[in-house]
Amino acid sequence: MPDIVSEFKEIMSLTKRYLERKEESEGNLFFIKPKEPAISEQNFLDPEMADCNKCFLAKSRRRIVWGEGNKNADLLLIGEAPGEKEDLEGKPFLDKDGELLTKILQAVNLQREDVYITNLIKCRPEGKLKIDSEEVINCLKLLYLQIRQIKPKIICTLGNLATRALLEREESITDLRGKIYYFRGIKVVPTFHPAYLLKNPKEKRKVWDDIQKIRDLLISG
Ligand code: SF4
Repeated sequence: MPDIVSEFKEIMSLTKRYLERKEESEGNLFFIKPKEPAISEQNFLDPEMADCNKCFLAKSRRRIVWGEGNKNADLLLIGEAPGEKEDLEGKPFLDKDGELLTKILQAVNLQREDVYITNLIKCRPEGKLKIDSEEVINCLKLLYLQIRQIKPKIICTLGNLATRALLEREESITDLRGKIYYFRGIKVVPTFHPAYLLKNPKEKRKVWDDIQKIRDLLISG
């Protein structure tokens, strides 16, 4: 099986060379104008959310994984739910899928610190999640609050669950990706979850197309 991380590294290196040539003639294409800070570190989370017990996952979790990154980011990425490592450390996307997500972002000149990364579900679930399950319904309300606080220009949903829950659609990510949607006036670009991409590297071209689209939207404002 091809090494997907190496392939993204190769794409990054090609992109870097392309950018260097472009910048020489046109200036820095990928400079994203910073927003006025909308929120401070202190008021980022509603105090009521700090120890959420709204569903049964509160009993088994070790840490709530709210998210990580720039709380005034233009780009918000939403995955599915924390795994074991994330549950231990309280941060999202720490495993192989997280490494791949970092590479995907770097391929368009974005660092993890530039964006905000979270999950639809904030506590580690056991078993498969369903769109109408208690934890999804309750955590979706917390996600709405995060979106209100961060005020991103673009939301990228990663995988089936986050895409379907946010857009209130029933189709699969395979059918939904490739188009731009709106959530409360914010552009939403769905793409495959990095964990899916690790198992299905043939889909990397589609994710590459999606991340380029996101980059173009960030540049055009
Ligand atoms: S999964 Fe979401 S709703 Fe359930 S306890 Fe954790 S933060 Fe609260």
